[in-house]
Amino acid sequence: MKVEFYGHVRQYDNIRSEIDANMQAVLRSGSYVQGPMLKRFEAELAAYHGTKHAIGVGNGTDAIWLALMALGIGPGDEVITHANTFFATAEAIWIAGATAVFVDCCPKTKCICPDRIEAAITPKTKAIIPVHLYGQCADMPAIKRIADKHSLRLIEDNAQAIGAHGPGFKIGHLSDAATTSFIIQKNLGTFGDGGAVVTNCPKMDAAIRKLRNHGSTARNVHSYGFNSRLDDLHAGVLSAKLKHIDAWNDLRRRWAARYTAGLQACRTIDLPVELPGYRHIFHLYVIETKKPEWRDELVDFLVKNGVDAKTHYSIAIHKQEGYPWGKGARIAGSLTNAEANAACCVSLPMFPELREDEVDYVIELVKKWDAQHAAQAPAGKGPAQSGALCSCCR
Ligand SMILES: *Cc1c(COP(=O)(O)O)cnc(C)c1O
Repeated sequence: MKVEFYGHVRQYDNIRSEIDANMQAVLRSGSYVQGPMLKRFEAELAAYHGTKHAIGVGNGTDAIWLALMALGIGPGDEVITHANTFFATAEAIWIAGATAVFVDCCPKTKCICPDRIEAAITPKTKAIIPVHLYGQCADMPAIKRIADKHSLRLIEDNAQAIGAHGPGFKIGHLSDAATTSFIIQKNLGTFGDGGAVVTNCPKMDAAIRKLRNHGSTARNVHSYGFNSRLDDLHAGVLSAKLKHIDAWNDLRRRWAARYTAGLQACRTIDLPVELPGYRHIFHLYVIETKKPEWRDELVDFLVKNGVDAKTHYSIAIHKQEGYPWGKGARIAGSLTNAEANAACCVSLPMFPELREDEVDYVIELVKKWDAQHAAQAPAGKGPAQSGALCSCCR
C-alpha cells in the first residue's frame, strides 16, 4: 500500500464545485488584485478568529516581517523565538533587520518554553514570537504575562495552528497580531502561496495594509512599502475552504487519536502530547524515536514500505549554515530540547482525507519496526521528551 503525506487532490475533488465557483466568480469579475473577493475573505477570516481585522498578504513569512515592521521593530532590536520551528520564523526576523534570539522549547509541546524567556531578555529585546508548532498553541497566558511585565510586543506565528485554541484563550487575542500561511500544505491552504495577519489593533491593520501595497493609502500617494498581496483567486479558494476548516481539523484529530491508540504500547518511540484544555489541530503528527540513531532508520523503513514519512525539522535553525550569525542571531541558554527534537522527530502522514485503512497500515508498520527494536529500548522517555518539565507542561 502507498500512503501519501498530503491529500491536496483528494481535498480538491471533495469540494471542487465550491472552489471552482469562487474562482469563476473572480475570473468573471475582472477584478484580480485587492478586489471584492479579497475583501470578502478578509472579513470571513477576521470573523473566524473573532478579531477586528484580517489582512491578506503574499505568504506566511511576509506576514511575520510585515507585522514586525508595522510595530517598528528592526535593526538593533532583538526578537525572542525558538530554534525548532520552520526556518521562516527566524528568517522573517532577519528580513526585518532584527536579531533572532533562540530559547529552548518545552519537552512536551515543542512550543517555546515560557520559563526560559525571561532570562533571554536584554534592554534590546522588543518582541517575542511564539510559534503554535505542529498545531498546538504555545502557553499564551504565561507568555503574555512576561511580555506585559517587560513591555514587549507579541506576535503569534500561527502558520500551523489555524482553528486551535488553548484553555480560555483564542489565537489573535493575547498578542499584537497573529500571522498565518496559506501555502498548500498548511491546514488552510491555497493552490500556491498566501498569508495573512489577524489583529484587534486598528493601527496594525492600517500599517500592514499600507506596507503590503507599496506604502499606498490612495491612488498615486506613496510612502515606504512593498508588494506583498493576497491575490483574489487565492482568496476565493480560501473562502471556499474556510467553511470546512473545523470539520477538517476534527478529522485530523480523529486520525491523531487513532495513531495514538494504535502506537501507545510501542517502546521505541514517544508520542505527541496534547495538553489538557488545548485543542491541538495536528498540522503534523510528530513522534520521536527514543534513540537519535533510530530516526533515519525508521523513516527509511516507512518510505521503503510505501509510507511517505518526513521530518519536521531535522536541522534546528541555529544549526543551519545559512543563518546570519553575529548580528543576525543569538542563543540564550542551552537548546537541548530543540536539538533532541531535531535528532529524533518523525512525521507520520496527516491530512483530513486519510482513510482508516491507510492510518492502520502506518500503525502496523511502526509496530513492526518497534517489535524489531523493543529489546534495545531505553526505559522511560527518550531524549526529546525527557528534559525538565516547564510551567506549561508540568
Ligand atoms: C509555513 C510556515 C511559515 C512560512 O510560511 P510561507 O507561507 O511558506 O512563507 C512560517 N512559520 C511557520 C511555523 C511555518 O510553518
